[in-house]
Amino acid sequence: MGNRVFNFNAGPCTLPLDVLKTVQAEFLDYKGTGMSIIESSHRAAEYDAVHTQCVALVKEVMGLDDSYTVLFLTGGASTQFAMIPMNFLGEGKVGAYVDTGTWASKAFKEASIIGKTVMAASSKDAAYKFIPKQADLKIPADATYLHITTNNTIKGTQYHYIPNPGSVPMIGDMSSDICSRTFDFRKFDMIYAGAQKNLGPAGVTLVILKQNMLDMCRDGNPVIFDYRTHAKENSLYNTPPCFAIYIMKLVFEWMKSQGGLPAIEEVNRKKKDAIYNMVDKYPDYYKGTAEKDSRSWMNLTFRLPSEDLEKKFISEAKAKGFIGLKGHRSVGGIRVSLYNALPLEGAQKLAQFMEDFKKAN
Ligand code: PMP
Repeated sequence: MGNRVFNFNAGPCTLPLDVLKTVQAEFLDYKGTGMSIIESSHRAAEYDAVHTQCVALVKEVMGLDDSYTVLFLTGGASTQFAMIPMNFLGEGKVGAYVDTGTWASKAFKEASIIGKTVMAASSKDAAYKFIPKQADLKIPADATYLHITTNNTIKGTQYHYIPNPGSVPMIGDMSSDICSRTFDFRKFDMIYAGAQKNLGPAGVTLVILKQNMLDMCRDGNPVIFDYRTHAKENSLYNTPPCFAIYIMKLVFEWMKSQGGLPAIEEVNRKKKDAIYNMVDKYPDYYKGTAEKDSRSWMNLTFRLPSEDLEKKFISEAKAKGFIGLKGHRSVGGIRVSLYNALPLEGAQKLAQFMEDFKKAN
């Protein structure tokens, strides 16, 4: 596919080419049904098979057993910021949060509207340059849950350890690094992620709950916002985002075909090394914004010596087929998003471009 760019957007972003080709090939006549899967009823056998397979693939790839319930919800990860406190907070309950950047702050703020919250740790005073260490987490023993954001899409930081919250259930917003590395997902009692980075197109949010979380849901919420409704109806209480789920199923099949998470991690390691090696080779030119031990493998953020050079970098990169490199509007600079589907070749070629750009400017 000669005209495809290397897409470094932070999400929605690039999808595996094989997945796109399958979608294209199956689009008009899905497996001999004489219609597209987007025209299928969500109660039809052909859609049911997609839905069921997708649930099984999520558990298989992530190494989760049947004590976990997999849900496909809508409203993005942002809706989870509200549903979590709606379901788990209330009289005598407190949600503990670690503030590691924009999305973590939003989750905390939303919960604070609904219930009682406490900040277990924050790196706000250091411009979110690092991930707080285990020793810095102040988690009240009676907290109802601990909420962390495993990868900070805007600030370019990522947890490289899994916090130990003691007996407090742990919830992870994994929107921007889910399934990017081998990871013990079983350390979490709840996991959620908007699909539009590593899992598929925008429109579906993957939500995974362990039974203890479902047991903790409080009564009195609107039925649609009660996790138990969706668990009981296998995410078919209302019409699910069928097409997005179909593509997510193909993405999970693709992950398996690559060799699962160990193989994906290996490629992701090479990709981030290619870029960070260039940052470390020219530290006065490409100034990394995250502390080294907190650097994200998914969203790599750095500044150039001036905003004019940053603009030039972005526009020359674009002309060469590297798109989506502009940092989030709230922080500026450069952000290189290296999600699973971005090929190794893309990261290597961008690293070469960085070298050439530095020498020429
Ligand atoms: N959490 C994280 C870590 C994110 O990166 C994002 C979106 N970029 C969100 C939450 C919000 O997701 P959504 O747009 O699906 O609501």
